[in-house]
Amino acid sequence: MQELTNLALGSGQPAYRGQQLFDAIYRQKIDRLDQVSTLPLEYRVWLTEQGWRVGLPKIDRKFSSSDGTVRYLMELADGQTVETVWMPEGDGGESGDGSEAGEEIEGGTAPATWRRATICVSSQVGCAVSCKFCFTALLGVKRNLEAGEIVGQIAAVLRDQGVEPPLQRVNIVFMGMGEPFLNYENFMKSVRLLAEGVGIPESRMTVSTAGIVPRIYDFGQEELRPKLAISLNGSNDALRSEVMPLNRKWSLAELMKAAREFPLRARERLTFEYVLLAGVNDAPQQAREVVELVRGIRAKINLIALNPGAELPYQTPEQERVLGFQRILVAAGIPAFVRRPRGRDIFAACGQLKRTVEVTPAGESKSTLSS
Ligand code: SAH
Repeated sequence: MQELTNLALGSGQPAYRGQQLFDAIYRQKIDRLDQVSTLPLEYRVWLTEQGWRVGLPKIDRKFSSSDGTVRYLMELADGQTVETVWMPEGDGGESGDGSEAGEEIEGGTAPATWRRATICVSSQVGCAVSCKFCFTALLGVKRNLEAGEIVGQIAAVLRDQGVEPPLQRVNIVFMGMGEPFLNYENFMKSVRLLAEGVGIPESRMTVSTAGIVPRIYDFGQEELRPKLAISLNGSNDALRSEVMPLNRKWSLAELMKAAREFPLRARERLTFEYVLLAGVNDAPQQAREVVELVRGIRAKINLIALNPGAELPYQTPEQERVLGFQRILVAAGIPAFVRRPRGRDIFAACGQLKRTVEVTPAGESKSTLSS
């Protein structure tokens, strides 16, 4: 916002032009400068001549799941792609919304097929953290996303779904491709843009980290911040280092110290995510270790049975095993929830996001979605 105001002032325009640009980009989600009807025509032309561009990531592909989840493959200005997931918590009906790829919804009204929805957004192209159970890790990291590219994914999905403000029913989770805390500045800037520009309250946003300990401390000091989730995934150092090699850099002791010292707000809980891998980290003894780890922290635990894939060296545990793990946590007084997989059939579930479409030099798209 300040940057846009400075841009306006620097080009001899009144300061409120900054606000007009801001509203057009983040609230109206326009994708061309010449659509900003609140600005004088000469100013739009001038901005364009100066090389300023606005735009949303292009929706390259859309995959719709039988459970209502929609996975978007977004193409960025440099041709890189990331994935963004729309998860409507519908009222049970088959909404069928958004199944026609490529349609334009200009100023459409929200179809009343969901009461609240969650958008899962990517923070990097690929990921540098090599968790052994995650598809995105197989890509390596290509680059960080800019703040505008993070917000742009959300704006593009909202536009595609025909969602208009007020946005009290839209949650944002920074749990797509990438490690948000390895792109910390841009991630935080996107949070501010979402809160101040798009109108999504900070309490409706959650960021998940694999455990970049120094950034957890930084994050705790932020005035405006989403809720925090930490991917635990192992109940002791040996196990966690095996499935998340980054544990060798920041051990469980350091991670749990940061978690313990994290300044929670009134009624706020820290979330720990625990991906259950059959026969690896899903035993009762390991559940008891988790109880000891989180003792004294105002926390809840989200259990996620592995979303499987041929490229991954792990299996999904039986439901009974998952429930047994949950029972031990709950019996120890720790709120624990089993997360329902969303969009597994379209590879939209946690850890399944990867580049599914390669663009050939001829510019044709070919799907490489496997298994
Ligand atoms: N880099 C961040 C956010 C992206 S991963 C992080 O690590 O937290 C989001 C969540 O998906 C994490 O909790 C991660 O442990 C989980 N996850 C990754 N691969 C998965 C898979 N194959 N099945 C289920 N959950 C997975």
